[in-house]
Amino acid sequence: MSLRIGIVGGSVGGLFAAVLLMRQGHQVTVMERARHGLTRRGAGLVVQEQVTRILHEVGLPQVAETGVWANERIVLDLHGKVMTREPRPQMQMSWDLLYDGFRKLLPERHYLTGATVSEVAPSDQSVKVMLADGPGFEFDLLIGADGQGSIVRNVVNEDATNSLRPDYVGYAAWRGLIAEDAVPRHAADILFERFAFHFDEGTQALGYLVPGADGQIAKGERRYNWVWYRQLPAASLSDLFKRAQRAGALSLGPGELPRDVRDALIADAQSQLPPPFAAAVAAEPQPFLQPIYDYESSRMVNRRVVLLGDAAFIARPHTAMGVAKAAADAMALASALAAQPVDEALASYERARLPQGQAMVDYGRRLGLSLSRPLAR
Ligand SMILES: Cc1cc2nc3c(=O)[nH]c(=O)nc-3n(C[C@H](O)[C@H](O)[C@H](O)COP(=O)(O)OP(=O)(O)OC[C@H]3O[C@@H](n4cnc5c(N)ncnc54)[C@H](O)[C@@H]3O)c2cc1C
Repeated sequence: MSLRIGIVGGSVGGLFAAVLLMRQGHQVTVMERARHGLTRRGAGLVVQEQVTRILHEVGLPQVAETGVWANERIVLDLHGKVMTREPRPQMQMSWDLLYDGFRKLLPERHYLTGATVSEVAPSDQSVKVMLADGPGFEFDLLIGADGQGSIVRNVVNEDATNSLRPDYVGYAAWRGLIAEDAVPRHAADILFERFAFHFDEGTQALGYLVPGADGQIAKGERRYNWVWYRQLPAASLSDLFKRAQRAGALSLGPGELPRDVRDALIADAQSQLPPPFAAAVAAEPQPFLQPIYDYESSRMVNRRVVLLGDAAFIARPHTAMGVAKAAADAMALASALAAQPVDEALASYERARLPQGQAMVDYGRRLGLSLSRPLAR
């Protein structure tokens, strides 16, 4: 039976589901709030088995084979000396190539941009959806692939008594993504072609090369991605969001940090990070802030509304599993719908994916333990 399926969120999770379900003969409509889609907005990701599998399934295996290699892992001390070196080749594929690849598989009319879903009203056999400034729709099934700040999760967890907002864990990632040429030579010689790390009490810095914004992998066209995890009390985070006039937001994008905050970050990096990392931090004109959250949904399905990807579970970025989790959810949902009547399929999707999501969030908590501990000094 062909279903009318609405998907809230047109990032990779929404697109994975849209393409698989369209190929099963369903009528899919993706509603993405970004006005111009998400092209050229991503960085890189480690190729996990679930991502390779979904790319093969839709005939895009080359996307998983195109990436930037790091040959080894090094750990730097505060003075920039290499303390340990471990040969561990790993590739960063391009988030943008992944997004564009799936986006092109979906005819334009099935992907609405500038479409912010503001209201979801389920009944037993269908779901009504309102856009903030547009028409309403009715679907047989609605998928919430609307990420960390999901509104669809409120509908799925309508009987919840606890807050459905993700839990801030007390530390944040300050991040930068710069053209490789912007990194000074002395720093590039140490940092490039490898995963570099620095660990200290309650803090961790890491960095690696990723493809260019159009998926370029040639030398000179790649970008350097650095991440600096630091503890940041919840009250300071909330002040920062207020100063940036983004109260209630979950993160601050490039250009949204107040100027003096960037200056202070660069000054801190000079005294607290190895010189190559400090140079990379100083080379980023518009650092951005990704506070770290945990979120576990207690259900993934309610009547004809389903959650997928970060809308259901937010696992810390140390797991490197965000995209893989969304791919696994989408494949599980599509195969359940191919095999069973709708309501049974949704129940078996939830049985299969709920424990997986919970396990991933737990794993992220364990990996982040050293960053969460109260500082001795
Ligand atoms: C622009 C962008 C770039 C990213 N780059 C990387 C990367 O380089 N590497 C990496 O590992 N991960 C990246 N991620 C995160 C990664 O995609 C997710 O962690 C993971 O894949 C889960 O994806 P998701 O589709 O569930 O959620 P997300 O990727 O967070 O997508 C949620 C989508 O829902 C849309 N949305 C939210 N609310 C509404 C609403 N009410 N109405 C309509 N649309 C709505 C958002 O605009 C967003 O596009 C990126 C995410 C985004 C959005």
